[in-house]
Amino acid sequence: MSKKYVYFFGGGKADGNESMKNLLGGKGANLAEMAGHKNLRLPVPAGFTITTEVCTHYYKNRKAYPKGLKEEVQKAMKKIEALMDRKFGDPSNPLLVSVRSGARRSMPGMMETVLNIGLTQKTIPGLIKQSGGNSRFVYDAYRRLIMMYSDVVMEKAAGIEPKDEESGIRKQLEKIMTQMKKTKGYKSDTGLTADDLGELCNLFKAKIKEVLKKEFPEDPYEQLWGGIGAVFASWQGKRAVSYRRIESIPDDWGTAVTVQTMVFGNMGSDSATGVAFTRNPGNGENEFYGEYLINAQGEDVVAGIRTPAPINEYSKSGHNKELLTLEKAMPKIYQELFNYQKRLEKHYRDMQDIEFTIEKGRLFMLQCRVGKRNGPAAVRMSMDMLKEKLIKKEEVIMRVTPAQLDELLHPVIDPKIEITHKPLAKGLPAGPGGAAGQIVFSAADAVEWAKQGKKVILVREETNPEDVEGMRVAQAILTARGGMTSHAALVARGWGKCCIVGCGGIHVDHIRKELSVDGKILKEGDWITLNGTKGNVYEGSLPMMDASEENELLNQFLKICDAIKRLGVRTNADTPEDSRRARQFGAEGIGLFRTEHMFYGKGADEPLFRLRKMIISKTETERQKALDELFPYMKKDIKGTLEAMDGLPVVIRLLDPPLHEFVPREPAKLEQLAKDLNITREELNTRAEGLHESNPMMGHRGVRLGVTYPEVSTAQIRAVFEAAAELIKEGRNPYPEIMIPVVSDVKELNDQLAIVKKVYQEVLKKYGLKKIKQMFGTMIEIPRASIVAGKLAEVAEFFSYGTNDMTQMGFGFSRDDIGSFLPEYIKKGILPEDPFQTIDQEGIGELIEIGIQRGRKTRKNLEVGICGEHGGDPRSVEFCHRVGMDYVSCSPYRVPIAKLAAAQAVLKEKKR
Ligand code: PEP
Ligand code: MG
Repeated sequence: MSKKYVYFFGGGKADGNESMKNLLGGKGANLAEMAGHKNLRLPVPAGFTITTEVCTHYYKNRKAYPKGLKEEVQKAMKKIEALMDRKFGDPSNPLLVSVRSGARRSMPGMMETVLNIGLTQKTIPGLIKQSGGNSRFVYDAYRRLIMMYSDVVMEKAAGIEPKDEESGIRKQLEKIMTQMKKTKGYKSDTGLTADDLGELCNLFKAKIKEVLKKEFPEDPYEQLWGGIGAVFASWQGKRAVSYRRIESIPDDWGTAVTVQTMVFGNMGSDSATGVAFTRNPGNGENEFYGEYLINAQGEDVVAGIRTPAPINEYSKSGHNKELLTLEKAMPKIYQELFNYQKRLEKHYRDMQDIEFTIEKGRLFMLQCRVGKRNGPAAVRMSMDMLKEKLIKKEEVIMRVTPAQLDELLHPVIDPKIEITHKPLAKGLPAGPGGAAGQIVFSAADAVEWAKQGKKVILVREETNPEDVEGMRVAQAILTARGGMTSHAALVARGWGKCCIVGCGGIHVDHIRKELSVDGKILKEGDWITLNGTKGNVYEGSLPMMDASEENELLNQFLKICDAIKRLGVRTNADTPEDSRRARQFGAEGIGLFRTEHMFYGKGADEPLFRLRKMIISKTETERQKALDELFPYMKKDIKGTLEAMDGLPVVIRLLDPPLHEFVPREPAKLEQLAKDLNITREELNTRAEGLHESNPMMGHRGVRLGVTYPEVSTAQIRAVFEAAAELIKEGRNPYPEIMIPVVSDVKELNDQLAIVKKVYQEVLKKYGLKKIKQMFGTMIEIPRASIVAGKLAEVAEFFSYGTNDMTQMGFGFSRDDIGSFLPEYIKKGILPEDPFQTIDQEGIGELIEIGIQRGRKTRKNLEVGICGEHGGDPRSVEFCHRVGMDYVSCSPYRVPIAKLAAAQAVLKEKKR
C-alpha cells in the first residue's frame, strides 16, 4: 500500500491522534485528538492534515509533491463536504477552508496561514446566503483573503523580495484602503460598507495584477494548492529559520499543513473568537483565564490590534476591566466552553492553550495545545497538579525545564526601592522578573546596541514575528498594545523574559524614536526599568535583587528533585558568605574552594598584599615570612567556610594562581611592595619579569608550585587542619577534602601527600586530637591524568574533574581566547556549541570516562565529582550522571538547576 499523506478529522472521528505529533505536527495531532478521542469528541470543524513527510519530500524533490497526494486531498475535501453539507466552490452553498502550518513544536507566528480559501466572485452570493444576508461580512472576508493571499502566496512564497517594506503588496493594498477611508471620511475599518468593500476588492485585484503581474486566482482549487504550497514554503522563510536556530529545532522536522472548515467569529454580534488557558500561564493559578473579541477573526486576538475583553471576572485587569466578559455576554456558551476546558485539562493532564470561535451562537474548538508558561507558573502548576493527583512526582520534575527554574532565580527590582517610585505606566505582566535597560524602538537597533554590550529594552507598538532577534537580545520587551496572548507575550513567556504588553498609557513613535507617556517624552537611549511580574514601568534604572531565597514552593519542588536524583550537588564557593548562600539554595557541600579567590573579593587588600609578597619572594626565608603573615587570613576564611558547611564535605584546593595575574600594576602598590620586601623598584621589576611565562596556563602553577615551594603547601595544609581542629574543639563537624590541582603524575601526588601526612600529625598533636575527618585527592584537568588515573587512585581518595582546563588542554583551545574563532566554528558546524559551556561528550567525555573506569578499578570507592563550569550546565549534568560521578559542583545560583537536571537524568534513564 502506498504511504498515507492525509489524515482526516471531524464528525466525532479522526484518523490520527495526539501521539502523532511528529507526523501531524502539534496542531494536527491535537485537532485529531480533540475531534476523535472518545473522552473528548469536541465540536471541531472538520478538516485534514497533510503530514510533515510531505514537507520533507517537497524540499528533497525540488518542491514537488509525492505521487498520490492530490488524490488524497481531493478525497478528504469530499469527506468534509459531505460532513459539513457544503461544497467547495459551490455558488449557492460554498465550503470555505483555512490552511495552517503546524510543526512538531509550536513556532508561534513564524509560519504562514491563509484563511477564507474558496471564496471567489462565484461563491460570494452563497456565503451571503449562509450568513443570513450579511453581505458586508462577505465582502470583508473576500478583501481579507485577497490581501492575505497576495502577500503570503503570490509574493512571499513566490520568492519575490520587495525593494523595501513600503513596496510590499500588502502595504500597497493597505494604502488603497486607507485612502478610501480618508476619501469617504471613515475613522475606522468598520465604516466601510459592503459596496465600499466590493469596490476595494476590485481595486486590490487591479493593483495585484499591476505589481505582481499575475491575476488573483478565482479557482478554489488553485487557491487551495497555492495556500498549501505557501505554508510549506514558509518553513524555510527567514523568520522560521531564525526561530529554529534560537530554539534548536532541526530543519528536517518540516511542517504539517492543516486544512480545516472555516468558521467565522466575525459574522455579527452573536459571533466571537478567543484564546484561553485552562490555568493562568503568568503565575500558574488554577483559574480559567482568557480573552475574546466579539465579531472578530482569530488573527485579531493574537495580532493585538484591538484590546480583547476578558472571558470572566478572573481574567480582568487594569486595561480591560470596563469590557463585558464572555461569561456575562454569552452565559450559556461560556458554560459550554468552561466544561470543555475542564475536560481538556483532565484528558491531557496539563495546562492547555485553546482557541475557540463562536459562529452565530455556536461554539467551535479550533485548537488546543500544551500552553506555554513562565518559570514561576511551571513550578506552581506542576506542584498544584501533584496535590490534585493529576500527575505523579516524576511528571512534576519533567514538567519544569532547567531554564524555567532559572527564571525563579531571576533578579527582581529591589522592593524597598520600588515602593519609593511611582510607575510611569502600567501594562500586563507577560514575563516575570525585573529588568533595566536603554530604550530602543526597533529589533534591528536592539541587535545593534546589544552587540555593543548595551542593555536594551525593546519598546514597540506591538511586536510581530519579524522582531524575534531583537526580542532575544533585549533585557526586556515593552509593547503598547496587545494582550496576554499577543505575539510578544507568547514569545517572551516561552523564553522566560521580562515583558510587559498592552501598556496603553504609552504612545510609541518609532519614526521619531521616542515614546510619550502622560505628557512626558522619553527618547532612544533613555533608561527605563520594568517589573514584569506586576506590569509596572519606571523611569530610570532601578537596582535589582534576588527573588529566590525564600520561595517556599521552590523549596518543595527541590525536595522532590532531591528524592529522585542520585548525583550530589555541591557548589563552587570561595568565601563564607558564598557558602552560606549556596547552602540556602540546597548545596550539599563545596566541590571547589579556590584558595586564591579569597584574595579577590571585598576587604581582600591586606591578604592580597601578603600573597603578592609571597609570590615576589626570592628566598625561602622571604617566602616563609610572607607565608607566616598570610597564614591567619587563610585559616580564617577556610574556617568560616568549613563552619558554614558544617557537617558537609568541603573540597579545598591548594593554591593554583596564574602568578602573573597577582603582580600589581599600579605604581603606588609596586612602591609599597618594594618597601615592605626591603628591595629596590628595579629589583622588584626584575623579579616580576622573572615570573613572566610564555604560556602561563601551562606554566608554574598548581601542584608545580607546591613541588618547588613545599613551604607554600605546608602553610595551606596547616591552615586547613588547624581550622578544622579548632572547629572540632568548638563542637562542630568539619569535613575538609584537600585537593591538589594540575596533576599529571602520581609522583606529584606522593610528593604533596608526604606534606599532608606530616602536617596532619603535627596538628593532631598540637590540639590533642585523635582524628580529623578528611580526605586527600586530586583534580583531573590534564588529559594525561585521565590516562594514568589508575595510578593516581593509588594515592588519591577522590577525583574532581576540572573540565575547564581539561577542555582547554584536550582541544588545545585557549579558554580565554576561544571567542575569536568560536563563532565561525559554530556557524560552519565544526563545533555544535561552545565546549566550555557544554561538555564535549565525544572527546573530553571519553577522557573523563576512561579516567573514572581506571580510577575505580584501583580504588572501588573512589569519590568522583566535577568542578569545572560544566557542573551547572543541564546537559553536562546528565552526562555526569550517566558516567557514574558522585556529584557535580557549580556556582550557587545554578545549584537548583543542577538538582533538577540531575533528577531529570534519572527519569530519562528509566525511560530508556
Ligand atoms: C577547571 O580547570 O575546570 C577548574 C575548575 O579550575 P580553574 O577553573 O580554577 O582552572
Ligand atoms: Mg583548572
